[in-house]
Amino acid sequence: MQSGTCVIKNARIVLPESLISHGFLDISKGRIVRISEGDFSSTGSELVFDARGGTLSPGFIDLHVHGGNGGTFTSIDPAEHALAREFHLKHGTTSMFASTHTTEFSSLLAILKSLSASSRSDKNGSKVLGIHTEGPFISEHKPGAHVVAQLKAAELSSIDEVISAADNFISMVTVAPEIPGGLELIKYLTQKDIISSIGHTNATYAQALAGIQAGARSTTHLFNAMSPLSHRDPGAVGAVLDNEAIYAEVILDGIHIDEAIFRIALKCKGVDRINLITDATSLAGFPDGEYRVLSDRAVSKIGGKIVVAGTNTLAGSALDMNMVYKNAAKFAQLSQPELSKISSLNAAKIAGRESDIGSIEIGKLADLVLLDTESDVCATMIEGEWKYVNSAWKEALSR
Ligand SMILES: [Zn+2]
Ligand SMILES: [Zn+2]
Repeated sequence: MQSGTCVIKNARIVLPESLISHGFLDISKGRIVRISEGDFSSTGSELVFDARGGTLSPGFIDLHVHGGNGGTFTSIDPAEHALAREFHLKHGTTSMFASTHTTEFSSLLAILKSLSASSRSDKNGSKVLGIHTEGPFISEHKPGAHVVAQLKAAELSSIDEVISAADNFISMVTVAPEIPGGLELIKYLTQKDIISSIGHTNATYAQALAGIQAGARSTTHLFNAMSPLSHRDPGAVGAVLDNEAIYAEVILDGIHIDEAIFRIALKCKGVDRINLITDATSLAGFPDGEYRVLSDRAVSKIGGKIVVAGTNTLAGSALDMNMVYKNAAKFAQLSQPELSKISSLNAAKIAGRESDIGSIEIGKLADLVLLDTESDVCATMIEGEWKYVNSAWKEALSR
């Protein structure tokens, strides 16, 4: 954390409910201490950064990200975790839930031990708020790219092994509520203050509702790998759209869901319950081609699409949060304060961290992203320090 004081001037500033079109921010000891409209007059003693009319928005928070730039979190190698975190920092992500996918269970435990240690000790790249385990407690009927033979029943002894391997750094677990032990698992996680996220599920409406009532607070990539909405059988999708309390992740690349589906989800859930996520794999940032990134099969990256090679089964995305943010702006008529909720504030709330992050407000950490007029990331600040600055902005943001 930076100990000194700095000012970012000449900025458009995105607040939770409004926008300052020209103003400045004062930051001290890594936290926002003043938010002002108008021109900044220097006393000569502060460190001043010139945002040159760029937009300061809360840093992106990605609740569901598996990797990037060749690194995956489902690895025992901390160097891979670092690659992914550094990649996403460059695209505006200040905080994330590092997410694992299903592997053979003993390997998963070893991976969680390593990922928990690297997440807590490595200060480079996006911050890791906690770990999200996607699989093995999911449905064999909706596995997506997960290997069915590696899935497990939701036994409490297994989740205890997961939590203990990760040294109590598990923040979110994807659970299919209808699998044996699913509801008990959701209740158990809720007691432990760990978020259950309904996903990879073939639940009926009633089963998904039971999951929500048992304490599930989020939805893993709403619509994808989930019993769909049908007019006589509303499925898990219907239960999530019909229930106000539960949050819903959406993967917004225009491939996983149609842009009209995003608008429909927004109408049902509102801007206070949607979380934009990347579900990015290690291939985010890589050129097209065929890669061996899953243990037992190859995947192909074709444009923005990643599939299990030779099939149409989607295997995560090639997204970063900046792309997702821009897609949201393109697909729906949302204001920048609304965009900041679905890309940051809602995620901070579900993670229980809204007193520190998720919006530009006095007292919160200065976790910020500076966007240009095209909404491309110019620089990313974590706790008052520019952790990434692109070459065009080096001079304006140098000390
Ligand atoms: Zn998934
Ligand atoms: Zn995923």
